[in-house]
Amino acid sequence: MNWEENVRRVVPYVPGEQPGQKDVIKLNTNECPYPPSSMVKNKMAGMAYEDLRLYPEFPEKTPLAQLLAEYFHVRTDQIFIGVGSDDVLSMAFLTFFNSGKPILFPDITYSFYDVWAQLYHIPYRICPLDDSFHIRKEDYKIDNGGIIFPNPNAPTGILMDLEAVEEMIAANRDVVVIVDEAYIDFGGASALPLIEKYDNLLIVQTFSKSRAMAGIRIGYAIGNERLIRYLNEVKYSVNSYTMNRPALILGAEAVKDDAYFKEICGKIIATRERAEKELTALGFTFTKSCANFIFATHKEKCAQEIFDRLKERNIYVRHWNKPRIDNYLRITIGTDEQMDKLFASLRAIV
Ligand SMILES: *Cc1c(COP(=O)(O)O)cnc(C)c1O
Repeated sequence: MNWEENVRRVVPYVPGEQPGQKDVIKLNTNECPYPPSSMVKNKMAGMAYEDLRLYPEFPEKTPLAQLLAEYFHVRTDQIFIGVGSDDVLSMAFLTFFNSGKPILFPDITYSFYDVWAQLYHIPYRICPLDDSFHIRKEDYKIDNGGIIFPNPNAPTGILMDLEAVEEMIAANRDVVVIVDEAYIDFGGASALPLIEKYDNLLIVQTFSKSRAMAGIRIGYAIGNERLIRYLNEVKYSVNSYTMNRPALILGAEAVKDDAYFKEICGKIIATRERAEKELTALGFTFTKSCANFIFATHKEKCAQEIFDRLKERNIYVRHWNKPRIDNYLRITIGTDEQMDKLFASLRAIV
């Protein structure tokens, strides 16, 4: 007997590198260049290590859930909290995409979607973006088993307006539509107001980008209470205590400090606008980004070469050897100081 024939095989998602050295300029995984709120820091300093002895509370029973509910003007039973939005999305795939029909998502998008589909044996069909990298909403008006797309899309940063998002949801009332809003805080309008009207809409957001807490792993979904109940039932059938205690406690502090949250999002947007001017002057073109990154291509120098030369200078950006996007770089917006170093290096390279 060959046991390997019955292994659940999957080609895993490959995230951007986390280089070990301290002196790198890390613009490759869309982390926030600013620290988390000082309220998180203060809470962390006063945290009792004895707390670690106990199992955590159920996430939906915590102050974090309460605070998120107040923040978004929903009830706690409309919120699901998970270990980063990757966990939330993975649970949502497992819970909602079971019809046997192909789910739909764009060809150029978050490259974890096809990994979950393969892991859970969910058939899928990819819908190519148009030549200017926009989602073609007509493609999502066919018989399907569910829909997922990021808004703004990654790695293009392109935002779809709410009317178009609503049109996609309205055309797909018999399946769950997941809008992955990992980057919505950098200039987009959330589809959140639509959850009252559409019980098949699940919004997913994260603390990893706009709340500067990628290391703690908090993500959440908001939607109709039945969607949330089904998600919790699946989650508690995989692991009864998914969130760790410090994450639940520190996440709550981040939500309380709304002024700081708005301040860092504003700074990133301002730096992005400056970066657009600098990159244009250097001969780059890019899609209109509503995220904390710019997806850029150079008129002469190829992306792979720029990527390699930047890396030699300890500047990390993201590049994919994939059809249609292999001549693009995704550059996370860093601090103004980091970006100035990037522009200086690019000036030397191109
Ligand atoms: C970063 C990202 C996520 C996952 O973020 P978490 O750190 O797991 O919360 C999900 N979707 C998109 C589109 C992302 O870019």
